[in-house]
Amino acid sequence: MTRYASVIVDVPAKQTDRVFDYEIPAKWSGFIQPGMRVNVPFGPRQIQGFVVEVKDNTTVQKTRPITSLIDIQPILTKELMLLADWLRDHTLCFTISAYQAMLPAALKAKYEKWLIVREMEQVPTELQLFFSSTDRIKFEELSGSTHFKTIKHLIEEDVLEVYYEVKDKVSTKTKRVIRLQAAETALIEAKGKIPARAVAQHKLLDYFIETKNEKTDKKVILEELKIGTSAIHALIKLGILDEIEEEIYRDPYEKRHFEQSQPLPLTQQQQEAITPILGSIEQNRHEAFVMFGVTGSGKTEIYMQAVDAVLQEGKEAIVLVPEIALTPQMVNRFKARFGSDVAVMHSGLGMGEKYDEWRKIHRKEVKVVVGARSAIFAPFENIGIIIIDEEHETSYKQEDTPRYHARDIALERGKYHKCPVVLGSATPTLETFARASKGVYKLLTMDKRMSEQGMPSVEIIDMREELRDGNRSMFSRSLLENLQIRLERGEQSVLFLNKRGYSSFVMCRDCGYVVECPHCDISLTYHRSNNQLKCHYCGYEEPVRSTCPSCESEHFRFFGTGTQKVEEELTKLLPQARVIRMDVDTTSKKGSHERLLQQFGDRKADILLGTQMIAKGLDFPYVTLVGVLTADTMLNIPDFRSSEKTFQLLTQVSGRAGRHELAGEVVVQTYSPEHYSVELAGTHNYLDFYHKEMQVRKLHQYPPFYYLALVTVTHQELTKVVTVTEKITQFLNMQLSKEAVILGPVASPIARIKDRYRYQCIVKYKKEPNLLDALKKVVEKYQSQMDQEKLAIHIDLNPYMLM
Ligand code: ADP
Ligand code: ZN
Ligand code: ZN
Repeated sequence: MTRYASVIVDVPAKQTDRVFDYEIPAKWSGFIQPGMRVNVPFGPRQIQGFVVEVKDNTTVQKTRPITSLIDIQPILTKELMLLADWLRDHTLCFTISAYQAMLPAALKAKYEKWLIVREMEQVPTELQLFFSSTDRIKFEELSGSTHFKTIKHLIEEDVLEVYYEVKDKVSTKTKRVIRLQAAETALIEAKGKIPARAVAQHKLLDYFIETKNEKTDKKVILEELKIGTSAIHALIKLGILDEIEEEIYRDPYEKRHFEQSQPLPLTQQQQEAITPILGSIEQNRHEAFVMFGVTGSGKTEIYMQAVDAVLQEGKEAIVLVPEIALTPQMVNRFKARFGSDVAVMHSGLGMGEKYDEWRKIHRKEVKVVVGARSAIFAPFENIGIIIIDEEHETSYKQEDTPRYHARDIALERGKYHKCPVVLGSATPTLETFARASKGVYKLLTMDKRMSEQGMPSVEIIDMREELRDGNRSMFSRSLLENLQIRLERGEQSVLFLNKRGYSSFVMCRDCGYVVECPHCDISLTYHRSNNQLKCHYCGYEEPVRSTCPSCESEHFRFFGTGTQKVEEELTKLLPQARVIRMDVDTTSKKGSHERLLQQFGDRKADILLGTQMIAKGLDFPYVTLVGVLTADTMLNIPDFRSSEKTFQLLTQVSGRAGRHELAGEVVVQTYSPEHYSVELAGTHNYLDFYHKEMQVRKLHQYPPFYYLALVTVTHQELTKVVTVTEKITQFLNMQLSKEAVILGPVASPIARIKDRYRYQCIVKYKKEPNLLDALKKVVEKYQSQMDQEKLAIHIDLNPYMLM
């Protein structure tokens, strides 16, 4: 009987966002499964597609057969395919885009498929012919075969192993390995028979007798025993050894040694926080927890013990951390506790490395993944806990289609696997804390630090006053004095420069002229390394001018404080201080981020100076001073979350000080000391901040009181953009209830990028059952213009960037 496959084809468009039925050629019947990719004819072309269902009949009159297989095994689980449908419906993306977001980029590259024999004795006769002279064959060599059902069975039994060799730059690495094939008695017997002059062969036999190794790297043998390959070949001929190619993972942490760490006895506070989580693990119950714990209260230890409990149950764990490359200390702690059970996934890895880590998860060789946002799609099938550390971090929101938030995905997966989801933060987002206050999430509070010292004391310095008193330096007198004290005592300091929203632009001091990008409505940023002005949105560059193009004044210079400039001033003021600077320039090389932190940890420097990248997760015992050079730069960004972000950042940074025996102090320099986000961060008062900010949000009708949807329209012609956005706004007005607030059309805060004009419409709403449908209709209506006239309409539900 002919069977059919429903396939989602790899054409991200409205018309193709549905299944197409294809005939399964008889030889692949029983072999093709949902979750595999195949090549199929589509019109005159051959394209890729994902099999989503295999069935006995179809309503389609004439089906065409599947052309060839891309995968030998499913690469998407049933759960991930359901999740893709959820993503499509909730972020308004195409199903195919959701699938692609779940897979490592390497799987889109070219690769060869191999089948490797693991247990030759168990290969049935009908297949032995294929493997008669080798332990591996290319999958294509089987294309004439009729034994696909058997092959599927053998793969499931681990007799055959599927192995993808990724082409392009990211090939999987292999090494030659020599394996022992005979028992010890046979080795001793061989020693008696082989003539004594075959010294190398004797060495080799002795080696395997003494070490009792089952296998060893060929390279190691050749080097250690100082023998040639002919001795190995001689013993292979005798059937004593054999030689195989074994895959090595590009483990980015392979050269590093991790001291095994043991679970610490928990404090009362930790015990109270972990108990409900353990209960939920034990009873297979989905629950969301907010672990609201001040910095240094021992959250990470709880994460690790909860993960341990999950592993005891034979289940798997996903731990998300914000851009993990930036918090190597976190990775180290998980590696030290769980060793090779951990896969690590972050954007600092190469495409091949990412693929290797993904493969370990896919092949169930690891039980824990610690990773950045996309690790939420780890193809585990038996998840026992999902943890999101620093839940408030904006990097958990993906800014491209599919525009998802990792927290929402975690909750969906948690429901499916009936397991707890833990959202940890010292400064939870207002959305999350509001849900915890309402009892939707369970609140676990940890308000005491592990160290005796408690929270560091914070001094807030009004920089306007410094200026009034004649101090023009970027260091207040108090900060400088405190730095000096640390130098004398041999303690360490962290200096934090908040650069977000405060780039180094060039401005005329006389007429106020700012150099902008000719293609985007945004100022150019000064790059000292090549003395150029650069646009961060389109890459446009131009050389720095010495006079103002508008008034020809010579008071035309770069404005804003870069880390380099701070470093220069610092070395002038404190010439004896050893400074490590960490910013995009000093950390662009792979591994340099970790190396610099290592140096600082080894106390080879007195001061660590850096941007956002040093705000999180660092834990150094000798850091007793944290200085924030400019606390309020983020307050001036046109974003309703700017106060929240300022509070979060200041709290995070302050948390770096005095985490161990030595007491910590924080000096915060600001031009708006009276702003509640600065003041309340200074007293570590999250709850007051929460209540105050909730009032502001309520007044201005922002989340968590209202949901937001952002529609952005872009096109090369301004009139086009305005008319389309206006029509969309009118349409939404008709479709939605009176309670919905529809703002627009207005120009986006960045009104032009890459010569394309940008307009937007924002919907604020509480309950609009029609909204998703209405937005879908908008996209449908403009589809042809989007295809033909390069009109673009982006829809972002719960946006984090309103630019
Ligand atoms: P957080 O993740 O909340 O910032 P950590 O888990 O990093 O806190 O804990 C802060 C410090 O306290 C770390 O150095 C950690 O090793 C230590 N610590 C955590 N739990 C315990 C415990 N139960 N006993 C002793 N030390 C602990
Ligand atoms: Zn000027
Ligand atoms: Zn530009």
